Amino acid sequence: MKPKSIKPNELDSVFSAIKKGDDESIGSYLIKGYRIQISKHNLTGAERVQMLYKKRRDNGLCIICGTKVTKKNPRTGSLYRLCDYHRGLIDKRSA
Ligand SMILES: [Zn+2]
Repeated sequence: MKPKSIKPNELDSVFSAIKKGDDESIGSYLIKGYRIQISKHNLTGAERVQMLYKKRRDNGLCIICGTKVTKKNPRTGSLYRLCDYHRGLIDKRSA
């Protein structure tokens, strides 16, 4: 995972997320040249994948490759779960 550069005051929100037990705190952070990695202990492989998918979904990223999704599903009005490329692959498979 690529670390996210944060400012010292942003560390507070990471720590408060940890205190709340919020999975939002999970990630890799770069601060003043230090790398802080927050991950969940003893996750099963399936839980790890599920968490990654959820995180991508919450951030509007393709759940397969993590590319930013910009197109919305006209039926639901919310962003697609997949980028154009992966949506194309799946559409072809189901068609
Ligand atoms: Zn994709």
